[in-house]
Parts: sequence; structure tokens; C-alpha cells
Amino acid sequence: MKIGDDRGRAPAPHRPRPHPHAPTGPPAHAGSLAHPEETPAYVYDLAEVRKAHRQLAAALPPPSALYYSLKANPHPAVLCQLAALGCRAEVSSPGELRAALRAGFRPDEVLYTGPGKRDVDISGAIRSGVAEFSVDSPVALRQLARIGRQHDERPRALLRVNQPLPPGGAGLAMTGGPSQFGADLSWVCEHPEQFQGEAHARVVGLHLYMGSNLTSESALLATFSYALDIARQVGEALRRDLPVTDLGGGFGAPYARPGPLRDFGELREPLKRLLDGERPGWRSPHRRVAFESGRYLTASCGRLVTRVLDVKVSHGRRVVVVDSGVHHLGGMSGLSREHPVEPVLLTTGPRPPHPGPTLVAGRLCHPRDRWAIGTSLPEVAEGDLLAVENVGAYGLHASLTLFHAHPMPLEIVVDGGREIERSRIGVHRERC
Ligand SMILES: *Cc1c(COP(=O)(O)O)cnc(C)c1O
Repeated sequence: MKIGDDRGRAPAPHRPRPHPHAPTGPPAHAGSLAHPEETPAYVYDLAEVRKAHRQLAAALPPPSALYYSLKANPHPAVLCQLAALGCRAEVSSPGELRAALRAGFRPDEVLYTGPGKRDVDISGAIRSGVAEFSVDSPVALRQLARIGRQHDERPRALLRVNQPLPPGGAGLAMTGGPSQFGADLSWVCEHPEQFQGEAHARVVGLHLYMGSNLTSESALLATFSYALDIARQVGEALRRDLPVTDLGGGFGAPYARPGPLRDFGELREPLKRLLDGERPGWRSPHRRVAFESGRYLTASCGRLVTRVLDVKVSHGRRVVVVDSGVHHLGGMSGLSREHPVEPVLLTTGPRPPHPGPTLVAGRLCHPRDRWAIGTSLPEVAEGDLLAVENVGAYGLHASLTLFHAHPMPLEIVVDGGREIERSRIGVHRERC
């Protein structure tokens, strides 16, 4: 079975193509979602993507490089926008690579990451012109060299290092304990000969993505400072100058609840001082300091609009059943979710507040298909539209879309108040 992303077939899928029901202005495009078949729908606003990019770029001292992590949202229009803004691409599958190249990211500015790459994935990436790979072990380094040799290419390797301790701050730690990501710092320091690489997979730098969703400048700075310290230790162990330092990111953003995107502008000066102190000469054209972000760049561009299908009381609690659920939002990130999805009422008009908690549930035949308990939704009725804000990152593409085979949600792209395109991912089975 294959997920066929029909949008991807057109070379420039985001080209303006006004929809007959296109609204003339904000808010919310709820007016254009009047028909029951039009919900659930994700609405992505490219103006918000530009704003988030502007804010993040302003927080990073030049000439830092910024990678967009496609897993957060690989919608073609979002990708085209971020490529046009000058982002590089961080991908970890053949599908993400294909989407990045179609959207206009340059292959020589793609970083291919992830533990456990298949030979065929690496071969395909090298054939597409990808020249930089994050490697997680000596096995991965030898694999890259072997495939590089077969293609008579010399791909570069960034060694991903798993630091001894998790990063501070309240985010989601990726490394800092037993992990499939990276090689332990102690391993690299004790056996540097296993991590030197060779002509067909030269180790040119480090990849230090430690965690996600840090919400304060101080937590981000502490992470980068820790990463730079690890980079220094690895450089000493390998007795080499490593020109590329990918410090990862972890720039936090609200998820599935209303709220503004935090401005990390205050980060720029202290980060510049940190880099100047720890990596003198980092601005030289032969060196690169890079950051990565998925969540921050796309979280605020997306909202999911869903319709109330049923309202009832069960064991004393109000239950609101909607036409979306964990198959469209909160699957991956929802299974051990710390923060509930908090839908808000989109339909206008005065509504009395509802006393007591509410269970907002989807329509999958599974008890885990619930978004929230205890939301502050006012009184609602069947037919009302609800919106889940800040789901431009880790929305549809982090969900359990095949479960139950409900239709995929519409995906509508707007730019400010203007609708640009709407499409729906299709799923089909192929014989192979
Ligand atoms: C997921 C991931 C990112 C993006 O993380 P965000 O929290 O979305 O910014 C960046 N780099 C790597 C290696 C990742 O796996």
C-alpha cells in the first residue's frame, strides 16, 4: 500500500488557483466551509509561515544556516514557501526528499538524517544530488562510505552525538539517555578511530539535535552551550577541525491550543556571544553553524476546522463528538500526550458558558480517540464549527490516517485572507 500524495504531481502546486467559494478576507475561512463535506479541513496560511520564518531568522545571528525539518509539515505549498525564503531541508525518508526537491530546495542544501537508513534510501539520495548525511554509528558511517564508493561520490557525514545528559528545560528530549539517535559521547571519545570516516564518507561536522519544544531563551541557550561543549570534546578526540556544527534547535511553539508564537528575538545577541567565544571563526565561509526547526516555522500557520456531530451527556459529563479525531490530529503526538488538544468555538454568535468539564471525542471506534477533557468550550450544538489552533506542525502528517479509512481532511492553503488552493491526499493500493 502506498500513500499517494496527488498534490505532489504538479510541479508548482501552490500556484494561485482561486476556488469558487474563496472567501474575500479573514477570519478563518469558516464561511467557505459551510458544506458538511468540507470539514474536517486543515487551513494553512502562508502569511503566517513567512512571519514565523522572519521571527526565527531574526533570533539567529548571521550567517547561521537554518534547516526546515520536513516531518513537521510537508505540504507542498508550505515547502515552496520555506524554500523560497531560503531555508535548507532536513529530511529522513525518500518521500520527504522527493517532496523537498519538488518544492525547490536545492539538493546540495539537503541534510539527510535519521537512524537506520536502508541502502536504497542512501543510493536514491546520492543520485538526487544529496551530499550530506547525519550518521548515528560506525556501521552507518561504513554504509555511507560503501554506497558513496559505488556511486563514485564523496558524501559528507555529520556525526550525530548522544550527549551524557538530557537537555535542560521542559521540552521533549531526543537524546541524553539510551537512544537510537547518535553515538554516545563516551564511545566517540574512547574510540575516536571508529568515527574518523574515510575518503568516501568524510566526517565534516557534528549533528547535535537534543530535544524539541523548548519555550525559553535560557533553555535554548543552555542547550546550544552544552552542544558546543560536546562539539569541542569531539573535535579534541578526533584531533580534527570539524567545520560544520549543526546545533539542532528545539524552538518551542504552542500546539493545538490558542496562543501567540513566542518571539525569540532576545536570543540573538547572547547566542552570537556564545558562538564567538566557543567557535571563533564560525562565520568563515569554510565553516557552517546550522540550526533546525520544524515546529516553530509551521505551528502557527495551521488550524484544523471540525464540525460538531453530536452533543450528549454521559455519566454526568458533556460529550461533544466531532468529525475529526486522532486520525487527523494528535495521533503520533497524542498517544502519550501531555497537553490536551483544546478546540475553540468558531461559529459566531453569543453562547452561554458551559458549566463543568467536556469530553471532546472523535468518531473512531477506539476509546483513545479523544482530544480533550475539561475544555472551556461554551454551549455548542450539532453543526457548530470548532477550530484547533496552532496545528500547522505535527498535524495531519503525525496522525493515524489509515485507521478506519475515513476520508482525509481537506487541506486548504490561504495567504492572508486569500484562498490559493484546496486538495485532499488520496490513498490507494498498488500491486507490487
Ligand atoms: C524532529 C526533528 C527536528 C524538528 O524539531 P522541531 O521541534 O519540530 O523543531 C529537527 N531535527 C531533527 C533531527 C529532528 O528529528
